[in-house]
Amino acid sequence: MCTQLACPVRWWWSALQFVMADQPARHFLAGLRDLIRIMSKTLRWIIFLSCWGSAAGALAATNDRAAPQRPLWHAVWQAHPSEIALALLIVFALGMSLAVFLWRNNRLLRDLSRINREAQSSLQIAAAAFNSEVGMIVTDGSAHIQRANPAMAALLGCTTEDLAGQSTHLLRGTSTAPGTLRKVWQSVQADGRWQGELLCRHRDGHDVPCMVTIAALRTASNGLSGYVGSFSDISRQKKAQEDIRQLAYYDPLTELPNRRMFLEALRTAMRAALQNGTLAGIMFIDLDHFKNLNDAHGHTVGDQLLRLISQRLQLLIGPGDMAARLGGDEFVVMMPHLDTGEDRAMAQTMDMAERIHKALLASFELDTPSRFGMHAQSLRYTCSGSIGVALFGLVDEPLTEVLKRADVAMYQSKQDGRNLIRRFDPIAQKARNERMALSNDLNIALHNGQLKLLYQLQVDAHNQAVGAECLMRWQHPKRGMVSPVEFIPLAEESGAIVAMGDWVVRSACVTLARWATDPALSHLTLSVNVSPRQFTESDFVDRVSRILTETGARSQLLRLEVTEGIVLQDTQEVISKMRELCALGLSFSIDDFGTGYSSLSYMQMLPLAELKIDKAFVSDLTTSERSEAIVKAIIALAHSMNIVIVSEGVETQAQKDRLLALGCTLLQGFLIARPIECGELERRVVSHHSAPALVAP
Ligand code: C2E
Ligand code: CA
Ligand code: CA
Repeated sequence: MCTQLACPVRWWWSALQFVMADQPARHFLAGLRDLIRIMSKTLRWIIFLSCWGSAAGALAATNDRAAPQRPLWHAVWQAHPSEIALALLIVFALGMSLAVFLWRNNRLLRDLSRINREAQSSLQIAAAAFNSEVGMIVTDGSAHIQRANPAMAALLGCTTEDLAGQSTHLLRGTSTAPGTLRKVWQSVQADGRWQGELLCRHRDGHDVPCMVTIAALRTASNGLSGYVGSFSDISRQKKAQEDIRQLAYYDPLTELPNRRMFLEALRTAMRAALQNGTLAGIMFIDLDHFKNLNDAHGHTVGDQLLRLISQRLQLLIGPGDMAARLGGDEFVVMMPHLDTGEDRAMAQTMDMAERIHKALLASFELDTPSRFGMHAQSLRYTCSGSIGVALFGLVDEPLTEVLKRADVAMYQSKQDGRNLIRRFDPIAQKARNERMALSNDLNIALHNGQLKLLYQLQVDAHNQAVGAECLMRWQHPKRGMVSPVEFIPLAEESGAIVAMGDWVVRSACVTLARWATDPALSHLTLSVNVSPRQFTESDFVDRVSRILTETGARSQLLRLEVTEGIVLQDTQEVISKMRELCALGLSFSIDDFGTGYSSLSYMQMLPLAELKIDKAFVSDLTTSERSEAIVKAIIALAHSMNIVIVSEGVETQAQKDRLLALGCTLLQGFLIARPIECGELERRVVSHHSAPALVAP
């Protein structure tokens, strides 16, 4: 009975406690107040009625003294009518009060049970959320952790118990920038929440990048009760982002910043320099003859060198500087924080350039595959670099201008013989601009018929014409006649020389074919100059062969002049190409002999018909004993190998006499004839058979 009673009481009590803590409490208290009011009114009525009842009872007792015997309840009623009436009234009043109370609060009870259900469901959701994959912590108002979920503990490499009671400061990642957390808390205070990326410290010391949401918890009276934070591990996303960035902004071979990243850094440096009034330096570094290493030992060895050079650059540059690889064997170094004075800034940049230049000259240990690809062999390799230096930050200018200045300076270093440091020189830039313009014009020169061929006669010791050298000329519409000394290197650089060279070979073959029908000219040979770029074209042999077939020229009368530099490339391939061409019937001459990389070993291997003594030796022949000694040696070598020797640049009779005395076979030079038009040459040969008096200038 007691427990049966205790249950509803407990229920009511807990319901009271629950609603007291929330909004519906006000309704409940109002109901309770009504109940007390009704009960007090009822009691007043009861007291009033009980007085009346007592009086009526006493009156009835005196009246009914002589009445017959009645049941017990009647006797009781007779004896205590007022008490019984009072009791009945109390019961009635209480019942009524309770009914009114229940009626009035029926709605409240329904609300209470709904709220209870909702609270339970919220708690279940909160519990589920708390146990989710996302790390969660709940702290008190002073940011001390009260509870952490298992995901949070796993994220930090500890247990939930380890975290309980700890300050959130413990979560701070070691690489978090100073002031970051202060800003976060300021934002939480101001807006009630903050979301963003933070680094959290893992127990083993490394930082875990997290997407964090922090929300302040408020009480009903809007006071701060604590904070709740959620932490999602975003290491994978960060890694993916980093990989993408690495691919987009870094050179995979050397791991140096690539051109794209360098340009962005250059833009930033330019802006900063202009804002702060400081200067910045830039240098272009181009390795000298890097191609030779690649050709001789393969690209993997070349790659090793590029990696080692990158490492040296990174060791040399200062903390705020940047070394980047622009591509191939081109590197760039930027020094964004230099002095404000131009001289001082240039001195600082030149100092760095000197150190880099020196570092490149120190030898590198490279692994090369052995001949059979089995074991790596060590190669001690020494390289050099051509460096161009320029400053920026003086004026606001396009980045391309800055790059161009360093490039011009680097190009100047190459021109001056490589392995040098050159600072930007405005005069050099002007020359470069002119070269560029000329190079552009050259691309259309062939199609616009601006090229022509002159012929320079070659005679024997008896002044009899034996042949001629074909020399190209460019009749520029504005500049007039441009020397091949100027335009041939440009054509080689741009590759235009390939088509131009074909045109020369074809023109010479057409002339030979025409001469073949004239007995006075049919014996003449024609020599054409072939540049290395042209010769190394993979289908060079096929093209020459096709031209011979198409023109019908006798191949035995065509001679190709190549320079010694040609054998610097893959010697075996050069030799086999030369042999193929010799098999077609034509012959080879080594031009400017003695000025290049003369090597007797390759002389033996190449199928040569002729050597041409450079005009530099001929011009000094009669004045310099040394030159005479060289000419003698070349002639002796040619005789021993049974090949023709041609002296070019013969300008005086004394030179001619001396050359003939030394045993030179053929002569070419202004003394014999200048380069002239084909028709003019034909006239001279046909009418005079190159009689000495008539072919002289
Ligand atoms: P090179 O092959 O050594 O040609 C000889 C150069 O010496 C020619 O200059 C010629 O005019 C010049 N010369 C001839 N005799 C004398 C002389 O007695 N005194 C002086 N001072 N010079 C003399 P050019 O025609 O200006 O050609 C210069 C160079 O341009 C040539 O040197 C050759 O390397 C290149 N070149 C000319 N035509 C062609 C061509 O069709 N193809 C290629 N690849 N190069 C060419
Ligand atoms: Ca020549
Ligand atoms: Ca020559």
